[in-house]
Amino acid sequence: MKIAILSRNAKLYSTKRLVEAATERGHEVKVLDVLRCYMNITAHNPRIHYRGEVLTGFDAVIPRIGASVTFYGTAVLRQFEMMNVFPLNESVAVTRSRDKLRSLQLLARKGVGLPVTGFAHNPDDIDDLISAVGGAPLVIKLLEGTQGIGVVLAETEKAAESVIQAFMGLNANIMVQEFIKEAGGSDIRCFVVGDKVVAAMKRQALEGEFRSNLHRGGQATLVRLTPEERSTAVRAAKIMGLNVCGVDLLRSNHGPVIMEVNSSPGLQGIETASNKDIAALIIQFIESRIKSLENTSDRS
Ligand code: ADP
Ligand code: GLU
Repeated sequence: MKIAILSRNAKLYSTKRLVEAATERGHEVKVLDVLRCYMNITAHNPRIHYRGEVLTGFDAVIPRIGASVTFYGTAVLRQFEMMNVFPLNESVAVTRSRDKLRSLQLLARKGVGLPVTGFAHNPDDIDDLISAVGGAPLVIKLLEGTQGIGVVLAETEKAAESVIQAFMGLNANIMVQEFIKEAGGSDIRCFVVGDKVVAAMKRQALEGEFRSNLHRGGQATLVRLTPEERSTAVRAAKIMGLNVCGVDLLRSNHGPVIMEVNSSPGLQGIETASNKDIAALIIQFIESRIKSLENTSDRS
């Protein structure tokens, strides 16, 4: 197979590991800087150009699109889809996962466990919003935040009110959420490939910190999932329409609740914690999907 990896940087751990795994399994791989792809949008012969060349012959594309390049990155991914190249994750699903509110609404509609979450536009509604999520302590999140930046714990209603006012004053989109105290500053990253959780890790926040992101100094260890956690993660991936994703959940008193579903989950933390070759599992998944696509087209 010929596989394209859309990534801004070929030196990133995850990109390097995917290249290694694909090469080991006998495939040709090309890492493409998504911002250097340009395209012609036509019905009969859609093409992608890259540094003066036309890209041809790709069987699959792996999007590793960072949050800051979602708009252009998904446009390039769509162009690959127009050229009938199999996307590891489809562009619509990537776009969907980048909108935290939309993701939570989709998951809620299907009855997946979530922290009680509120969203408002007008500062006049702050008091009511705070009581709608059960009062302080509560978590306030910037919708555009990643890696735990823009996630604030407000211990009292007064603090919550001022933080919400400040964010609203800056025209930032925020949501407020019930604080899952019993999670004890840890969350669980379930790495989903296809219809399975292939590895899971628990991330524990530093002492005195409630955000468990590895970028915020969180420590990862291997964790055993309950069957309910496993099925919640797989369902969330399915609802979002993602073949490969990182589903983050918290252990709450009322069962697992989903924080978010990440469509370009990092490999470093999970491969180190689990000691598994996750990159190879991703490449194998692509192989099997392409094989079944070929079989269907042979029969038709
Ligand atoms: P980001 O997308 O920036 O990582 P998250 O929503 O995943 O933001 O929040 C970052 C971390 O903060 C989570 O991994 C979790 O440890 C903690 N956290 C977030 N929301 C809550 C909550 N409602 N209750 C308890 N802890 C939370
Ligand atoms: N970016 C995520 C974090 O900060 C995950 C990193 C990883 O999965 O390697 O927690």
